[in-house]
Amino acid sequence: LLNVERLSKSFGTHQVLKTIDLTVSAGDVTCIVGPSGSGKSTLLRCLNYLEVPTSGVIYLEGEPVGVRWRGNKLFRMSFNELSVQRQKMGMVFQGFHLFPHKTALENIIEAPMIVKGKSRQQVTEEALLLLDKVGLRNRADYYPRQLSGGQQQRVAIARSLAMQPTLMLFDEPTSALDPELVGEVLAVMRQLAEEGMTMVVVTHEMSFARDVADHLVFMDSGVIVEAGHPRDVLSNPQHSRTRSFLARVL
Ligand code: ATP
Ligand code: MG
Repeated sequence: LLNVERLSKSFGTHQVLKTIDLTVSAGDVTCIVGPSGSGKSTLLRCLNYLEVPTSGVIYLEGEPVGVRWRGNKLFRMSFNELSVQRQKMGMVFQGFHLFPHKTALENIIEAPMIVKGKSRQQVTEEALLLLDKVGLRNRADYYPRQLSGGQQQRVAIARSLAMQPTLMLFDEPTSALDPELVGEVLAVMRQLAEEGMTMVVVTHEMSFARDVADHLVFMDSGVIVEAGHPRDVLSNPQHSRTRSFLARVL
């Protein structure tokens, strides 16, 4: 479903990603772990072209992301083309980024109504089902400030799902939450994984990675040091950098 080929990204002279190769199959959950500053967020942001790669190409369902081949050269696609492509990738961040002056329901229906041109009635029905899925049907008319962090993040997940993405990207979705609220968000993500959603998740939640991921990627200093089934990577890490990272977080 997703192929990252020799992706590099530099900010000025600082090379943050160094020829990253990564493949994500449909239905797979890939967790990315690694120390602060290793390039995890940059990688995730390159996947949906929030960051423009310095070199390399990302393919989503066989189509290059953000660019088009013409002959053997790559050209930036138009903003409209990019928007269509981005709709296939839901993104959930550490902060929840809900519209503060809109209710949970209004937050969810906004994009499908405007971008997909669906009727208010149809998107409202779909949104209520999504609120059900994240356990917040009874909070549909609450404003973000009336919701806990965990509830806001679940609304943010429902809002992403409303665009019917083929792939969900999560960047430390539970890092900003009080510890007692982490579980409810992870439970929603776990359920999503069980339903077959393809997910790329940057996380520090090692137990989530162990239990849910099909593929665990350990990054350090802009490279993928080690990747594989979480059971193997966690219990039998091959590289000393992986071992010292795991010793600190497990
Ligand atoms: P964390 O676990 O703290 O979120 P991370 O693995 O997500 O870290 P990134 O946010 O991808 O790391 O950052 C990787 C490196 O790139 C860091 O050294 C950071 O300072 C640098 N960096 C990220 N974004 C920019 C930017 N827009 N301009 C310049 N440098 C940047
Ligand atoms: Mg980050």
